Amino acid sequence: MLVPVTPSAIRLESTAPGNGFGACSLADRLVRDCHTCRVDLTLLQDVLARHGEPAFRARQVWDWTARGAASYDEMTNLPAALRATLADEVPFSSLTLETEAHSRDGTEKALFATADGRPLETVLMRYRDGRRSLCLSSQSGCPLTCTFCATGTMKFGRNLTASEILDQALHFRRKEEVNHVVFMGMGEPLLNLDNVLAACERLPDVGVHPSSTTISTVGWIPGIEQLTEREGPTIRLALSLHAPDDALRSELMPVNDRYPLTDVLDACRSWSEQRKRKVFVEYLMLAGVNDRYEQAVQLAALLVPENTFKVNLIPYNPTDSPFEGSSREAIETFRSTLERRGVPATVRLTRGRDIDAACGQLAARG
Ligand code: SAH
Repeated sequence: MLVPVTPSAIRLESTAPGNGFGACSLADRLVRDCHTCRVDLTLLQDVLARHGEPAFRARQVWDWTARGAASYDEMTNLPAALRATLADEVPFSSLTLETEAHSRDGTEKALFATADGRPLETVLMRYRDGRRSLCLSSQSGCPLTCTFCATGTMKFGRNLTASEILDQALHFRRKEEVNHVVFMGMGEPLLNLDNVLAACERLPDVGVHPSSTTISTVGWIPGIEQLTEREGPTIRLALSLHAPDDALRSELMPVNDRYPLTDVLDACRSWSEQRKRKVFVEYLMLAGVNDRYEQAVQLAALLVPENTFKVNLIPYNPTDSPFEGSSREAIETFRSTLERRGVPATVRLTRGRDIDAACGQLAARG
């Protein structure tokens, strides 16, 4: 999704571990050629060279793509013959749009397929204040089996390439300007960190600054540590917590057996100290499961010191799981209990309920 022009002829031999997918799109090519310059000749370059074109053409193609061009045809500073050649030889996107759903509240969800037929979803949320927030997928499916999550019930497919991640954004950029990205679609971004970061490096060209980009994790500690230590601008961090004690958290999120609460919170504190930013804590509100007063008290006690965490309470988007969302009153009581104990807490606006916009709902159904 990186480059709408992800002319997929290009081979992005991703450096990401576990991403063993070699076939690359134009986006792949462009990503490397225009920005990282550490890769061998790409297909785009090959095509350009074969046609006697200078290397700066790759940059021109990306500039158009990042600004929402819908095809090579719009790239008017490229010779017409070259545009035709590229259209023939370098696929414009690594993704095929399968279905689109439009919510009454302006939210839009796209279901895509990769070239090898893997499903993934992307959501665009439009807010009244002008915010245009994209919810991107980092994997097709997810290996982590959180019990409340529709994606967790699907078979895990594979990590998405940087181009497939970018091409999701480019799809929506072709419709309108976008300014925020959250990695809260399908998959665990910290299990595919190299590709996620490669995509994030290109997002500013698409209109999304690192400070407006958030990576959400189940609490995969090695990835949190990498984000703490890496060079470069800080991308925001969100932690899916969902329970104030290990027993309940392990029931909801089996990954907690591997990376228990105290260790995950310690990793987040180190990140926060180093990057000088608060960690967003996501807490799904599940009726009768994690929404009691004592649980709010317990959660507040965990989230110390002050100024490290900010809680976002998430109304549950019903799926085929046995869980039900908490009532509005229960959510409000929980929120005020946290606030009274010095933990800032907000309630997430519910978006796209009428189009099954929760993580993985469309693809799981498919
Ligand atoms: N794997 C990452 C990112 C993908 S899930 C993570 O777990 O953070 C993004 C967020 O959506 C997580 O907080 C997840 O718990 C939440 N989520 C999953 N299913 C949901 C549902 N049905 N309703 C509301 N939020 C959901």
